[in-house]
Amino acid sequence: MVSNHNSLQVILGAPGLRGKTLTALPKDGLTSLIQSIIFNKQDLKEPFYVLDLGVVASLMDQWTRTLPTVRPFYAVKCNPNPAFLGVLAALGSSFDCASRAEIETVLSLGVSPDRIVYANPCKAESHIKYAASVGVNLTTFDSKEEIVKIRKYHPNCDLLIRVKSPDDGGARCPLGPKYGALPDEIAPLLQAAQTAGLTVSGISFHIGSGATESGAYKAAIAAAKGVFDVASQLGMPEMHVLNIGGGFTAGPQFDDAATAVKSAIQEYFKEPGLTFIAEPGRFFAESAFTLATNIIGKRVRGELREYWINDGVYGSMNCILYDHATVNATPFACTSNRENPRCGGARTYCSTVFGPTCDALDTVLTGHQLPELQVNDWLVFPNMGAYTAAAGSNFNGFNTSAITTHLTYSTNAS
Ligand code: PLP
Repeated sequence: MVSNHNSLQVILGAPGLRGKTLTALPKDGLTSLIQSIIFNKQDLKEPFYVLDLGVVASLMDQWTRTLPTVRPFYAVKCNPNPAFLGVLAALGSSFDCASRAEIETVLSLGVSPDRIVYANPCKAESHIKYAASVGVNLTTFDSKEEIVKIRKYHPNCDLLIRVKSPDDGGARCPLGPKYGALPDEIAPLLQAAQTAGLTVSGISFHIGSGATESGAYKAAIAAAKGVFDVASQLGMPEMHVLNIGGGFTAGPQFDDAATAVKSAIQEYFKEPGLTFIAEPGRFFAESAFTLATNIIGKRVRGELREYWINDGVYGSMNCILYDHATVNATPFACTSNRENPRCGGARTYCSTVFGPTCDALDTVLTGHQLPELQVNDWLVFPNMGAYTAAAGSNFNGFNTSAITTHLTYSTNAS
């Protein structure tokens, strides 16, 4: 285990790692690591993340084996942790950036600008100028106003027309209400780009984040084929990029999604010379991060147990509001049972877990069964990498961006 992202280059370049691959820690290994962080720093009661670099490596391996023809551009918005971005860059990922700051962060890792898609259909003029100045030459658009800005500030930028996905894929966070050209807007937008002398090199769509129906990829890829046909009827033969966006979740859902994507590409985009890209966020980030929080307060009301922890809905758990996530907690009853901190006693109580701010909205869990816990025990939350710290605030002085991340990995001979 190493404690900060400055050590990342050391890990990735270490002679001992030559010929080996990073793998995820076994579940017990992660538990003992968290225990050792807690016990080795008794005075440390701040929340912390553990980022398992091996999880990221095995997800990249899974992506490459399952969707070898689709190049991943990790969506930085999902989790911009520098060590996480660094390991993705080292594993060969490209990046989807939505703002000047995200582009700066990715470039600062030594990633070349041709590994960035500026995938925000509505960009501030100053951010477009910045992209031009650093050579980020691929972006998305879905309005005539965007064409005017790009023509003025970055006329050499290649464009992807963002189209509204026909189906929101049963997504937790549909994106269609905000982005994507409607079917009858497509031809006029392509013509407007052509008249402005800009190159539209392809199409992008996003079926929605946390999608549950992989059939949505098929519908969107079929619709994209129709847009390629419109473009060639308009005399725009230069279209060659299909960007299938994000919406992927690791696990069996990914296999379904990949099967749907591959069969739709096979059916609708057989011609050679096409480039397929995607913008996965959740797929890489979610399961790589585990969050440990300290119990800072307790109240007993009859049979009900109420606990306060030092991260909450204004911090990492903003995912409950914005990402419509449910979170899961494992107790570490350190104060009563140091030998076996996971135990905490056999009996469980109906419990509420509050975040630290003085707002009742800041409630992380209700009606959750937990053993009797004490102030200074810990609650550990798995799968906390996607849309968590990225959108946390410093409301009431609880600063999400100050939460430390400990890095870990295990290795296999490859
Ligand atoms: N690309 C774009 C344009 C997005 O807006 C998002 C998420 O909002 C993503 C990619 C990442 O999506 P996901 O985390 O579902 O893979």
